[in-house]
Amino acid sequence: MKKKKILNLFIGSNNPGKIKEIRDLLPKTTQILTPKNFNLKSPKETGSTFEENSFLKAKFFSKKTKMICLADDSGLEVDSLKKLPGIYSARWGGKKNNFNLAIKKVYKKLKKNNKNWYKIKQTARFVCVLTIYWPNNKFVIVNGIVEGTISKFKKGNNGFGYDPIFIPLKKKLTFGQMKPKEKYKIDHRIKAFKKIKKFF
Ligand code: IMP
Repeated sequence: MKKKKILNLFIGSNNPGKIKEIRDLLPKTTQILTPKNFNLKSPKETGSTFEENSFLKAKFFSKKTKMICLADDSGLEVDSLKKLPGIYSARWGGKKNNFNLAIKKVYKKLKKNNKNWYKIKQTARFVCVLTIYWPNNKFVIVNGIVEGTISKFKKGNNGFGYDPIFIPLKKKLTFGQMKPKEKYKIDHRIKAFKKIKKFF
């Protein structure tokens, strides 16, 4: 495995919430570029797992930019929804990545499954798979998971995506109610990131 520190990194994501989180995890000295700097669109996520999609994004952007690329594929798995939205988490927000729409869809499906859904602990987890892809075709894939439950109501305006409906295990607040600092300490992304920290 490569041990040389990465000083210039391309983050293979067009999701501002995700880019912000990754930027906050990296040392301030790491120079970061994103698809916006190259006017690049994200590739189609044709994989059937977080691993496949994370890998295909990292490889795609590394080939396009000839840079070392970090890509994240992540999402929310709700057990009673057969682990959906899972890899479709972004797609549930429609073409405009409307997180309110995605959250509404989760509640609609929970209700459709069982009208008393809120009386039952709705176990769920956030999954994050990070891939670093080097221009010499070396790569590393790691994952991180945070377990929790789905809140009965949408709560909080912090974060992005499904943060306002996810309560991590042993906490009372949703990720949307927590200060970013608090979320970053325990979330799926930091857990995955810890496994690749040595590269930065
Ligand atoms: P991706 O860009 O295909 O990996 O989509 C990931 C999607 O999962 C995002 O658009 C969010 O909807 C959701 N997601 C991933 N990580 C988080 C998180 O930390 N908080 C809230 N939602 C997340």
